Amino acid sequence: MIDWKFDQMPEYKANNYVLVIFDSCRYDTWLAAEPKTFKKLGEIEQRWSYASWTAPSHYNLLMGLLPHESPKNIYASEYYKKGFLKFNERLGQQDIEFKSFVPQLFLPGFLQKKLGYRTHAMMSLPVLNPRTIINTNFDTFRLMDSHNDMRAMLKEMTFPEDKPSFYILNVGETHYPYALPDEPRGEWPRVSGVHGVFKHLDDHMVGGKLVEQEEKFFDQNKLNQLKDRQIEAVRYLDGVVEELFDLVPENTYITITADHGELFGEEGYFGHGPIQHNKVFEVPFVEGKLR
Ligand SMILES: [Zn+2]
Repeated sequence: MIDWKFDQMPEYKANNYVLVIFDSCRYDTWLAAEPKTFKKLGEIEQRWSYASWTAPSHYNLLMGLLPHESPKNIYASEYYKKGFLKFNERLGQQDIEFKSFVPQLFLPGFLQKKLGYRTHAMMSLPVLNPRTIINTNFDTFRLMDSHNDMRAMLKEMTFPEDKPSFYILNVGETHYPYALPDEPRGEWPRVSGVHGVFKHLDDHMVGGKLVEQEEKFFDQNKLNQLKDRQIEAVRYLDGVVEELFDLVPENTYITITADHGELFGEEGYFGHGPIQHNKVFEVPFVEGKLR
């Protein structure tokens, strides 16, 4: 007797997985921008980053631990286990669990070595350059020529059918100075009068407390303008993400989130990094499959 059900079973196909990180993007910035595209993936969630700046946050993301929900009355180990089960949905698998990632505990290694993915990183921020330890188990790993051009990443994305693909995109338009790709460098805003870690703003190491004796330099109007620029950047990225949605094949799962938030003068803080503040950990989160 012919087992017609078996004959008609669709061929198994793993999902491509695209993890998009809007660097420094605050949750409330995202909401204020009222983006249309992102919600096609699912409900926009308020989540929490495990770290306050780029490098440790990306390490954590690449361990497979995406921003958390700050759940109460649960052991961390139980929450992690539950979180790893979500990779079954993301990757179109059935038997992934926390121990699948053991002992390396690194998502690109798991994808490349155990599931046969092609793994790619396109990074905007220099602290994620290819010489760093984060460049492990990637087929390609690029620090992009421009720190603020997500569209340039899309031009290089391919999804050959022989193997599923994984991409992590670290997107810099939402990072200080919140500049869009077509804005001339000479017109980027400057935060004047800042000292110490602020001297490294252009090195993309942003954050710290504006000390009282330098209060004369503390210009809240300027910081409000910077916040508005981040909102504008999210509006712009809404359009670029639509292009990403058009580009990816049918079986692609996409997560969009941020590596940490940003401070715009609240309680004397600007930026991120050496800051203990709610807004530096609060991040937006959305994920799903379009079709
Ligand atoms: Zn960052």
